[in-house]
Amino acid sequence: MDWIDGKDLFGFVVEKNEIPRSGGRPYAQHTKVELNLVLHTTEGPTVKNALNTFAGEPNNASHFVVGESRIIQLRPLDAQAGALAVNSPHNPNDGTIQIENVGYSKENLWLPEDGLLKPLVALLAFLGAELQIPLTVPNAWPDDCSDIKTILATNNTRRLQAEKTWPAPQGVWLHMEVPWQAKNWHWDMGRVRRSVILQQAEELANQPVNGTSPSGGSDPLSGGDGQMSKPSNI
Ligand SMILES: [Zn+2]
Repeated sequence: MDWIDGKDLFGFVVEKNEIPRSGGRPYAQHTKVELNLVLHTTEGPTVKNALNTFAGEPNNASHFVVGESRIIQLRPLDAQAGALAVNSPHNPNDGTIQIENVGYSKENLWLPEDGLLKPLVALLAFLGAELQIPLTVPNAWPDDCSDIKTILATNNTRRLQAEKTWPAPQGVWLHMEVPWQAKNWHWDMGRVRRSVILQQAEELANQPVNGTSPSGGSDPLSGGDGQMSKPSNI
């Protein structure tokens, strides 16, 4: 599978805006069989801003840009993206599917707004199943980063741990956890509530297909947003 544009992922139709490598160079294919997901933030305000940035710096493109209730694919899934730093002999772009989330990382605990959260949850639900990537937090790291004793934007303790095991454990990583990211040591997505995002993606992936619910129409998961609705009669 390479391009998924036109696919309807739980109500979000994937758009295509290819960002080829500079100079007409061919894509590098993944050499790893087991893939990981890596989440980034664009550190910009809009989808348009992100696409303009990647058009000017095509070698830094991810596979997807997500935000403003949109999912946009920039690179085929069987090819490597370029948003992670390569410090030879380490190339973490090999074997990772990368998602750029429109917005800014935060040092305090945060959850994306619905315009970002919902398409991100839909994309994760699809990719987890399609690419057989577990929707789990590597090493069960806590969302509040209480385990990290240094600043995030450095060769932090998660990175030091990960450089001994990468690309295991398979799961959904943040850029700030990927090892060998000198010299910028990007710290996206910061203290994001990844466990909440992944739980919603898991629920969405496991929801019954419309019309097959045995409960005769009052199925709480049929709302299409992947969240349990609360009883209204209390
Ligand atoms: Zn990043």
